[in-house]
Amino acid sequence: MTVDLSRLPAVDRVLKSAAAVALVERYGRQPATEAVRAALAELRATRAVADEAGVAALAAGKLATGMAPTQRPVFNLTGTVLHTNLGRAVLADTAVMAMAGVLARPSNLEFDVTDGKRGERDDHVRDWLCRLTGADDATVVNNNAAAVMLVLNTLALGKEVPVSRGELIEIGGAFRMPDIMARAGCRLVEVGTTNRTHLRDFEAAIGPATAMLMKVHPSNYAVVGFTSSVPEGELAALAHRHGLPFVNDLGSGQLVDLENWGLPHEPTPREALQAGADLVSFSGDKLLGGPQCGIVVGRKDLVQQLNRNPLKRALRLDKGRLAALEATLRLYADPDRLAQRLPTLRLLTRPVAEIEAAANRLLPALAAALAGRAEVSVEPCRSQIGSGALPVDLLPSHCLSIRPVGAKSGAAVEHMATAFRSLPVPVVGRIEDGRLKFDLRCLDDEAAFLDQLAQLAPGTTSS
Ligand SMILES: *Cc1c(COP(=O)(O)O)cnc(C)c1O
Repeated sequence: MTVDLSRLPAVDRVLKSAAAVALVERYGRQPATEAVRAALAELRATRAVADEAGVAALAAGKLATGMAPTQRPVFNLTGTVLHTNLGRAVLADTAVMAMAGVLARPSNLEFDVTDGKRGERDDHVRDWLCRLTGADDATVVNNNAAAVMLVLNTLALGKEVPVSRGELIEIGGAFRMPDIMARAGCRLVEVGTTNRTHLRDFEAAIGPATAMLMKVHPSNYAVVGFTSSVPEGELAALAHRHGLPFVNDLGSGQLVDLENWGLPHEPTPREALQAGADLVSFSGDKLLGGPQCGIVVGRKDLVQQLNRNPLKRALRLDKGRLAALEATLRLYADPDRLAQRLPTLRLLTRPVAEIEAAANRLLPALAAALAGRAEVSVEPCRSQIGSGALPVDLLPSHCLSIRPVGAKSGAAVEHMATAFRSLPVPVVGRIEDGRLKFDLRCLDDEAAFLDQLAQLAPGTTSS
């Protein structure tokens, strides 16, 4: 049987229909026309028939998906506060405002308004960084991977850098210390063993081609058991005896002592400098709670060398992130209110009783929305700091635990997770013990969470 393809309306006819006119109004003439063409092509290919309104409806669907922003907010209920895949640190309001303030208008990014001469973009954050870490100088780049790259390329191009075998880390994605070393143009000299490295190992590795000594903070793992690493003070002293700089890649680099808020200790850049590091590098969007960036603080002559490297120009920060970083650093001037104002610290220090209360508040509505399909309960759980900070420390928390009823396989719980991720603001949890768990530590907007539950239409979660 042949289908009469002439029964599909022409592009122009469709575009004159009321539904298509609305699409042109909303998305523009060109995208709407392309979508109508695509819709007609699809109907032709499947030998289907439709009138003008039918074609326009198909085009509307294509435009809705094709023109939707791909990066959008989600609920991070994974229990990992600094989740790299979910954008790490959530910025403080003042940082967001500062960022927005310079993005839509010209700013004095590299301009000194007092004398009308050229300024330096890092001037906006240098004094804050020095003040908060006790360093003499500071520079900022795209992220901490870039910071490490810049340091190595500046101080050790064509030379050797001894690093303990226990610290040859991979931080997820493509950040592997040996690869970064190679790309930075230096030769890695592996020292010691995976679990034990001694000062004498470093001593034996130092030769005429050695450029610097380096310590890498084991951010996302812990070597436990029969272990030994060289205290950074001894490593610094050894480097200095040989006239070499000692560099400490801290990773997280929290600017305040987390113990003040009852959290486990994470070494601060100030401590690393006091222990003898000449340069310390760390991320802006991990525990610091600011925008993505990499920060290097330390000796003025070395920082100036970093700034003279042409790579610095390629890795520099943009005005928006500089503004957000400056605003974030300013919050640290008032430690008393830091936990209220800095979302990262607020979420990490959220009292467990408060999280449990939130879980109990939300339980009835969630149970009702999933009635007949799943059992929901409130359970204690543990949150992680994430982004490689304090890998072995877990913070007590509470979660909503969803167990699909009659579920024999993991498929039902996977379907449930998919349904929650398909909501207008996707809800991302974690699957554990055959349950979908929503750790409520990072849930700020309970009303927005509840508003969406009605859209978990029955059927979307059944397998
Ligand atoms: C996270 C981390 C890095 C990479 O930092 P980014 O800001 O993600 O580029 C490098 N070194 C250490 C020790 C880290 O923890």
